[in-house]
Amino acid sequence: METKYIFVTGGVVSSLGKGIISSSLACLLKARGFRVTIQKFDPYINIDPGTLNPYEHGECYVTVDGHEADLDLGHYERFTNVRTTRANNVTTGRIYQSVIDKERRGDYLGKTVQIIPHITDEIKRNVKLLGNTGNYDFVITEIGGTVGDIESLPFLESVRQLRWELGRDALCIHLTYVPYIHAAKELKTKPTQHSVKQLQQLGIQPDILVLRTEHDVPAEMRRKIAQFCNVAPDAVVQSPDVPTIYEVPLTMHAQHLDDIVLRMTGTPADGQPRMGAWINFLDKMNAAEETVTIGLVGKYVELQDAYKSINEALFHAAVYNDRKLDLRFIHSEKLHSGNADDMLAGLDGVVVAPGFGQRGIDGKFAALKWCREHDVPTFGICLGMQCMVIEFARNVLGLTDANSTEMDPRTPHNVIDLMEEQKSISNMGGTMRLGAYDCDVRDGSRAAQAYGTTRVSERHRHRFEFNNDYRDRFESAGMQCTGENPSSHLVEIVELPDHRWFVGTQYHPEYSSTVESPSPLFVDFVRAAVEYHSEHGRTTERSKSLFGFNTLK
Ligand code: GLN
Repeated sequence: METKYIFVTGGVVSSLGKGIISSSLACLLKARGFRVTIQKFDPYINIDPGTLNPYEHGECYVTVDGHEADLDLGHYERFTNVRTTRANNVTTGRIYQSVIDKERRGDYLGKTVQIIPHITDEIKRNVKLLGNTGNYDFVITEIGGTVGDIESLPFLESVRQLRWELGRDALCIHLTYVPYIHAAKELKTKPTQHSVKQLQQLGIQPDILVLRTEHDVPAEMRRKIAQFCNVAPDAVVQSPDVPTIYEVPLTMHAQHLDDIVLRMTGTPADGQPRMGAWINFLDKMNAAEETVTIGLVGKYVELQDAYKSINEALFHAAVYNDRKLDLRFIHSEKLHSGNADDMLAGLDGVVVAPGFGQRGIDGKFAALKWCREHDVPTFGICLGMQCMVIEFARNVLGLTDANSTEMDPRTPHNVIDLMEEQKSISNMGGTMRLGAYDCDVRDGSRAAQAYGTTRVSERHRHRFEFNNDYRDRFESAGMQCTGENPSSHLVEIVELPDHRWFVGTQYHPEYSSTVESPSPLFVDFVRAAVEYHSEHGRTTERSKSLFGFNTLK
């Protein structure tokens, strides 16, 4: 079949969850046997989000081919189990860079280079890149930002042109917000009408409207919206708040979003989506009665998206262990050896988060020392793993001023040091060790047991590494390097075999955890936490009241 292009735009306000709606539709189409991919176009000028801090843009996700990407690509993978690549996330910066490179090469010689047609042509070329591979029946394209933003205009103009060129092979889904005015006790449709008008002014008639709402939008009101917005009455669907994002595919299917898309694109389809595995996951999630309490030690605790993939990987792992996840964010800047007992007692497991720079690092050391000494299941990821190494060097090997050269370039014991190939690099964008690398896992190690194999491939995003000059000293004192890259011999996993579960990974296993295929390391970590919980009893009320924490539902 011809590749079908589905565009997803958003209006009224940001943060409505275009990524979740795109992912849910992809999940349903895939469950009907179609080959699907989702891509995101972001209207900012950074070449990629790798240079944005989490305050600006939440987590930076990493694809297998080493692209630093928008966190929505994480949702795409978690919902579809289909890997994304650099081609799935394009920014205004990349579009302009490519056009300007062409201009300098002389590709447009003699011509004035303009937004229309040159920028829009480059956007259109990128939109079709994945479709042109012949690997996909559906390419879903999410346009970042909100209709009405100046910076989205070239993208929306490209959508307008593509819809015209592709005819029935393209359609547009517009996501809007229906607010509830408490004082009037009424839902209001006007913002949706205005938002659709704005889209129409740009020459785009949406085919399907998805209404984000906190209250049920009655059928009568949906009919009214359909009428005002020139949309088929059954093509106005609502997306109410649900307890977890993983329920959204079912909410969409209950309103026939997938059927409507197939009908409108003239795609023959028989039967229903096979959502068995998905429903099993939800059933397991809903059946879980007991809780596993995990602490996440990091410096961005007030940002719910800063550690998105870790949150989701922990959630998947909890469900596969038949537990509800009680995730507590622990501010590394507030943690020290004097209060570690108060802050950490009662947790069933502790994750020490990735990160960059000095801020909050001492809290991570304090957490790790406490967890190591109290035999609490502990998982260090990237900087978290590096902190495990430094804490062990300081407190077990007696190298009191051991450090990473990231924090102290003059440390006498550089147990974590800049990678050789990083030493000559001065540009900040896209220059870390990025993407999936193989890792040989030592037979019999905790990690090998968790993975059930001795060769894995996981994604990286770092500049510093374990310093192999110290390897023998660590291993003889009990910290084993149980994972290494087969060609560079970079250490990828450290663990303490004498501890019940104390594993650090230089890579980020959270990026590859999906609903269908959870990360084996996370599942094993949570299993150890559940075991620890059953040995040590319930979380104490005292420790509960000490955190200002959120519970991830
Ligand atoms: N800052 C560390 C490094 O660059 C760790 C990075 C991370 O945690 N992603 O090596």
